[in-house]
Amino acid sequence: MQKEMKFGTKAIHAGLEPDPATGAIMTPIYQTSTYVQDGVGNHKGYEYSRTLNPTRHALEKNLAAIENGKFGACFGSGLAAMDCVIKMLNPGDEVISTNDLYGGSYRIFTTIFEKYGIKFHFVPMHNTKAIEEKINANTKLIWVETPTNPMMNIIDIKAVAVIAKKNNILLAVDNTFATPYLQNPLDLGADIVMHSVTKYLGGHSDVVMGALVVNDEKLAKEIYRIQNSSGAVCGPQDAFLVLRGIKTLHLRVQRHCENGKKIAEFLNTHPKVDKVYWPGLPTHPNHAIAKAQMRGFGGMVSFTLKGNKLEDALNVVKKVEIFALAESLGGVESLIGHPATMTHAAIPKAEREKTGVVDSLIRLSVGVEDVDDLLADLANALN
Ligand SMILES: *Cc1c(COP(=O)(O)O)cnc(C)c1O
Repeated sequence: MQKEMKFGTKAIHAGLEPDPATGAIMTPIYQTSTYVQDGVGNHKGYEYSRTLNPTRHALEKNLAAIENGKFGACFGSGLAAMDCVIKMLNPGDEVISTNDLYGGSYRIFTTIFEKYGIKFHFVPMHNTKAIEEKINANTKLIWVETPTNPMMNIIDIKAVAVIAKKNNILLAVDNTFATPYLQNPLDLGADIVMHSVTKYLGGHSDVVMGALVVNDEKLAKEIYRIQNSSGAVCGPQDAFLVLRGIKTLHLRVQRHCENGKKIAEFLNTHPKVDKVYWPGLPTHPNHAIAKAQMRGFGGMVSFTLKGNKLEDALNVVKKVEIFALAESLGGVESLIGHPATMTHAAIPKAEREKTGVVDSLIRLSVGVEDVDDLLADLANALN
């Protein structure tokens, strides 16, 4: 096989071989906890499924390939993958994180790991000076999420990587929103890529899973040690579903991007809409960085309504018929959400409004349906 396959080819083939026992072209679901050994220590590479399972192993290799990394590790959820990253640190270590980040990420940092003596600083990362100001001898990790949820801010991964390297700090990037098809943080200088596989990689809203991908062998060993020691692994059935999802990742994300663009442009000229947040719009404040580090702008679109009234926003999310009112994102079906009362309800109003999560903010996960139907659905709900 060619050494450097392109994305669509890797998505379908990387890490996958016909089943040696039967020739089955699709990776079987090895629904087993253990493996018979010919003699003590004489096994075929698999001893116990927390440590390694063939279906999960195939997915880990496939994920590593599509992120241009060498080592992949899968977990029971995106947060379990993050849990593994932070467990590499020691009490007294400090982390600098994006201030505008997924609510669950903020929760695991502040309510789980602060208790164990790890200190977190949350800074606006489009200003790299804000990062440098927080660095000291204890800083061990920089955590970046880009694009951010729900404000669609873009952080310059390359610029942050330069700071991380100079100070000998690990850089981890949550690449959930972009997907490996649109953005590869390892190529931009990151040490660790994290995914909520639940979203675009699974792609069909039927699995909860997380993953890490790295290039460095020492880092990989530490990740596998924690994966096995803490045990937050995914099951083989879920690994199979995600392997199936990834085979169409490039096709789905192409359509997510096309539909996202048409919907962002429609909203941008709609008389009832105030602001539209989509990194592909030339008016987006970080459009230039998005263009430089992403190959497309995705299907996540947020917008606010003129007058900024809570009841207007609640009316829109109630009136849509194709868009389903739900948390989560990245599936083939379109979803609509109201951050102020759903994902960000726990954050005090004054706090959330500082980052842009106002009462009329609506977030769309634009699916891969026919875009004309999606546009008509939004037009109807807005009028
Ligand atoms: C959903 C999500 C997570 C958490 O992943 P789970 O699979 O729900 O545990 C982390 N980061 C981002 C950006 C997400 O959207």
